[in-house]
Amino acid sequence: MLKLYNTLNRKLENFKPLSDGIVKIYTCGPTVYNFQHIGNFAAQIYWDLLVRTLRADGYAVRRVLNLTDVGHLVSDGDEGEDKLEKGAAREGKSVWEVAEFYIEDFLKNYRSLELSEPEVIARATDYVEADMRAVDAMSANGFTYETEDGIYYDTSKFSDYADFARLNLSGLQAGARVGFSNEKRNASDFAVWKFIKPGEKHAMRWDYLGRPGYPGWHLECSTIIHETLSEPIDIHTGGIDHIPVHHTNEIAQTYAISGRELAKYWLHCNFITIDGEKISKSLGNVYLLSDLKERGFSAMDYKMWVLSGHYQGERNFTFEGLEAAKNRRNNWRARVAECYQQSKKSSEASHLGHAQGRSPELTVLDGSTPADFSTTFGQILAAVNENLNSAEAFAIIDNSELSIEDWKKVDELFGLRLIADTPDVSDEVYDLIREREAVRVAKDFARSDEIRDELTRRGILVRDTADGPVWQYVK
Ligand SMILES: [Zn+2]
Repeated sequence: MLKLYNTLNRKLENFKPLSDGIVKIYTCGPTVYNFQHIGNFAAQIYWDLLVRTLRADGYAVRRVLNLTDVGHLVSDGDEGEDKLEKGAAREGKSVWEVAEFYIEDFLKNYRSLELSEPEVIARATDYVEADMRAVDAMSANGFTYETEDGIYYDTSKFSDYADFARLNLSGLQAGARVGFSNEKRNASDFAVWKFIKPGEKHAMRWDYLGRPGYPGWHLECSTIIHETLSEPIDIHTGGIDHIPVHHTNEIAQTYAISGRELAKYWLHCNFITIDGEKISKSLGNVYLLSDLKERGFSAMDYKMWVLSGHYQGERNFTFEGLEAAKNRRNNWRARVAECYQQSKKSSEASHLGHAQGRSPELTVLDGSTPADFSTTFGQILAAVNENLNSAEAFAIIDNSELSIEDWKKVDELFGLRLIADTPDVSDEVYDLIREREAVRVAKDFARSDEIRDELTRRGILVRDTADGPVWQYVK
């Protein structure tokens, strides 16, 4: 049974889908005005684990990820600079070109991490007409009011507004700056639609209510969920920074649009710090996956590092930690290679008439049987079923013997390319390894060294053990 920590109740709960059909999941995606750093991708890795765990548990999943390609403001509130306009000014491009460029870059990196593709990747600009219908509905239901600069959500009309984030609204009201949008009725009210004033520079604009404007940034998620999945959905995911404003506002909007609850389970991941510091440009620690690659670490090494911890914990990234994750993955790959060698050995032994007397049908695995939690893989799956505890699952992998079938399932569950990056070597290489063993026994060390060098050129290291030579990939 899958257990998840639900922000809605601040409790670990047994996961029960809303219907027997498909588990509906929504993930708040990036604003595409800049490169996504490794901290941003950590969140995507955690939610990929969620999807893969549900699938391993036998659920069908339909997941939607949004891409915020419509300009929204640098702060969570309704003041400040527009992110896409900022990117466009910085790069001398149009806002549309900026969005296009960073979407492509995001997807390229996303795929390099072997993250399962969401069933729908929704670009916010494709849903602006639906946004207008949503504002119409909220207004018809009496949840909005108009000011000089936009249509605002009246949070006093939604009595549960403070519940999700356990907000102190009177404190918020008292703390609001004087003159902070003087037309706002409550400090927590927010724009669902912004008007563009005459002469105001704003490239992305749509006509609504007889004047140019653009959607408030919280709106797209409510709209996209309404259009693609239909609320209530099973699971909504995001970062903990989304709780007090963005997700609180999504819940409020959806209630005003349809009177329905938005999601049954809310999962929030914590931040990543780098060498103990917040990720920030001024500290020069905004690492991209390409920066890690330059230092000799693959996307898989980084994914391995992320999955060695828990999504709710604040994680501190260091290159020493990444090195350890890389070594651990290489060790697992060496164990995959050993599985090939063992099966090679036993098939050779049986050819020579030295079969171990094991009846072959006992080793046939039937993938259609349900997960058996007494097996090694069953224990691994049971660990991730405990609120996605991949760290515990990794410890089980470190300390158990896994068959090649187990490794295949581990790869399906975590997407670590252990098998894909560790193909069995060719017969030719096996012949070389055997020849090296023979010449070593005959003390022809010159030839033995020659073969070793040849194998090294092919990326293969051979270790001599009591049971004979064992090969593994060097990288
Ligand atoms: Zn969102």
